[in-house]
Amino acid sequence: MLLLECPYCGVKAEETELSPGYEAHLKRYGPGSTDEEFEAYMFARKNPKGVHFERWRHTYGCGKWFLAARCTATLEVFGTYPAQVGEPPAEIIEKIKARRPDWKGYK
Ligand SMILES: [Zn+2]
Repeated sequence: MLLLECPYCGVKAEETELSPGYEAHLKRYGPGSTDEEFEAYMFARKNPKGVHFERWRHTYGCGKWFLAARCTATLEVFGTYPAQVGEPPAEIIEKIKARRPDWKGYK
């Protein structure tokens, strides 16, 4: 079972209380971008077996969007943080590096 703590209301929510928003920290492209950049933004998504950064919505709670860092293979959660944050917090990066020394980063 996947449990994610909502960074807004502090509730440890089960996956059934949440809605997935898929990959976090996407670089958005719009008018003025190349066709390849826009196509990659629209369709290309990471699907790692391991550390992944995702968007989640606390649908049956406060209703707010937040971001989570977790392992897709083990469901280990490294942390959650508000969706308005542009980069993962340093403490979450350090926690991932401590637990996964071979991790290459999120970009
Ligand atoms: Zn919440």
